[in-house]
Amino acid sequence: MTGQPTILWFRRDLRLADNLSVDSVVESGGPVIPLYILDEREQYCWDTGGASRWWLHHSLLSLERSLQKLGGRLTLRRGNTVEQLDRLVHETNARCLSWSEVAGPEATTLDSKIIEHLDSRLDIQRFQNHLLHASSVRTDAGGTYKVFTPFWKACLQLPEAATPLHAPDHMNFGNSTLQSECLKDWQLTPASPDWAAGLRESWSPGEQGTRSRMQELLEKVPAYSEARDCPAADATSRLSPHLHFGEISPRQIWHDIRHFCEPSDRGAEAFLRQLYWRDFSHYLLQNFPDLPVSPLRSEFARFPWLSDEKGLEAWQRGQTGYPIVDAGMRELWHTGWMHNRVRLLVASLLVKHLLVPWQDGADWFRDTLVDADQANNSASWQWVAGCGTDAAPYFRIFNPVTQGRKFDPLGYYVKQWVPELARLDAAWVHAPWEAPASALAQAGVQLGRSYPHVIVEHGYARERALAAWKSLRSA
Ligand code: FAD
Repeated sequence: MTGQPTILWFRRDLRLADNLSVDSVVESGGPVIPLYILDEREQYCWDTGGASRWWLHHSLLSLERSLQKLGGRLTLRRGNTVEQLDRLVHETNARCLSWSEVAGPEATTLDSKIIEHLDSRLDIQRFQNHLLHASSVRTDAGGTYKVFTPFWKACLQLPEAATPLHAPDHMNFGNSTLQSECLKDWQLTPASPDWAAGLRESWSPGEQGTRSRMQELLEKVPAYSEARDCPAADATSRLSPHLHFGEISPRQIWHDIRHFCEPSDRGAEAFLRQLYWRDFSHYLLQNFPDLPVSPLRSEFARFPWLSDEKGLEAWQRGQTGYPIVDAGMRELWHTGWMHNRVRLLVASLLVKHLLVPWQDGADWFRDTLVDADQANNSASWQWVAGCGTDAAPYFRIFNPVTQGRKFDPLGYYVKQWVPELARLDAAWVHAPWEAPASALAQAGVQLGRSYPHVIVEHGYARERALAAWKSLRSA
């Protein structure tokens, strides 16, 4: 390799376009070693649940193909990140290391360790590539925002997100003959049983797949604000896993929406607001590193949660007897994704109707979501459980039947994911126990046999949850 190379360490920025880290190494003109490290030590693999591992495999393949088109390759290493970087610096005599920051307490600790270990030998360049705005927004008094709306308004006062950078059309890879591990050997995709068929049907990981989703989004935006809460409507972007793995930057999305949509478009406004919710979750994680494990409202540490293994399992399997909840949990199992409105309902059922700790639900999501994201997942679970800084009031307890009727009035979503109820009239599909015996018989539904009875009656569960919550205030 001629000249001392720069290590271009890809982390959660698996793209070439609008990647400040990529841009800086290309600009420097020297030889580049694109690198990905799989560090499977427990504290560094929050987002490597089964579904995420499947995504990661395909996203790395896609990145590899993009680099090959430029005449290079992606070097793959596995193990302790600091040791692997150290080894590579020795092997290549690298002079510079470039990476994009990852949100989260473990990632921050890791960054410090790397700097401590390598800073004296290398020029280290770090970039914020993952959010619309750096997580440094402060209140007038210099404090941390704890509520979304003022945070959002403060962000709107900042200079607009920088114009996205194009993917490079060339890169100097030197003449490296570095050893690389084989992606297949990492066994990120399931072999036997192969449970990933639904994921393959539903997703195209990588920058290319992201572009198709973006195209679809531009058509969806005009109806976004009206239709985004209806799970049968396919009205949302489904960009969450692409954003999580950094196959697209929020800056690219922001500019595309601004460029292609009318400024007065309510759908565009509503959609962009969601990107700020994402920034806000990351901001909370950065400022409250215990977010994934401890309630931000400290009184919730005393909440009388139940240990209900059976309830948790019925919830995970989509067998609670509440059709909208079961539909969501089965959509999740099949596709690795679930509609936001339904995430709210299933999470609420777990923490309020069953009194199962929110961390158990977050763990299941972490393993099964293709977009499992430490910041968004933890902040959202705390929001639903009422223990976050800007959370739904605990006493607002969703009724899964009325919510189902409101957001899936014709029952299309339930019928898609709960085929046992597919022939039941829409009038009963969210509460089959209310259907006359003749309607059930005609639809082939046998409650307690072909479809479960409700796991817990709503009125009883509501009173129990409120009593648990009140016990916090009297303690
Ligand atoms: P769109 O409606 O098209 O929104 C565009 C983007 O904005 C999303 O891709 C996402 O990046 C961001 N966004 C949207 N809603 C939220 C939100 N409420 N909070 C933060 N960012 C948001 N999202 C994840 O990305 N990963 C998770 O692990 C995750 N876990 C969740 C757990 C629970 C209990 C709940 C209630 C929500 C969770 N969310 C999570 C937030 C939200 O449900 C998903 O981001 C959204 O459903 C993804 O679909 P979409 O890309 O079509 O969203």
